[in-house]
Amino acid sequence: MRLDKFVCKSTALSRAQATAMICDGHVVVNHVVIVDVATQVHEDNHISLKGEVLTARKSRYILMHKPADTICSNIDEAYPSLFNYIDVENASELHVAGRLDADTTGLVLVTDDGRWSFNIITPSQHCQKVYRVGLSRPINDDVAAKFTHGVQLQGEQQLTRPAILEIVTPKEVLLTITEGKFHQVKRMFAAVGNRVVSLHRESIGAIQLDIEVGQWRYLTDSEVNSFS
Ligand code: URA
Repeated sequence: MRLDKFVCKSTALSRAQATAMICDGHVVVNHVVIVDVATQVHEDNHISLKGEVLTARKSRYILMHKPADTICSNIDEAYPSLFNYIDVENASELHVAGRLDADTTGLVLVTDDGRWSFNIITPSQHCQKVYRVGLSRPINDDVAAKFTHGVQLQGEQQLTRPAILEIVTPKEVLLTITEGKFHQVKRMFAAVGNRVVSLHRESIGAIQLDIEVGQWRYLTDSEVNSFS
């Protein structure tokens, strides 16, 4: 991570205060004074501030059951942020690994570890996300094959990656996808002439939603490591 971020993570300093400390020559990395705030450092490096050794706070990994009418960013918009539900220190350092729309409910992973969330959101990592989808019209028989092949979404250059459709009832399906384009599920059903009326994420990789709406919990070590 960047040196200024490391200093923030290991002290109570704001980003501006950490920047000032670094630029003034108070931060030493592996016995060398570093004044470039963007220098990449690792938690194993020996880093000190005014002679005091710094240790970064441990990264946090949280599972949240997102309610409807909440948003996944920290910025106040028309709806309240789901971060209002997560009462931890330094919540502004957290981000959502794979956002959901305001009207979508279900499993959201929240962390301050950008490398970890990269494994979840990058399509090349093939991390499966399962959605329970309510539809306005009965599903056509040919949709599973179309989704396996990939469909063309408006404004996109490439077909969607292969997706798995399981029919629960004519108007309720489970969809498994490994990518997360903007409004992807809604656009996929629009591309086959249907419309999503309810959307709920049930799992990401091996992690299943197992808490009530509006609740959150820390992930276990094995859940965290399942994405590495
Ligand atoms: N696809 C959507 O269309 N919306 C979501 O919230 C998630 C996936």
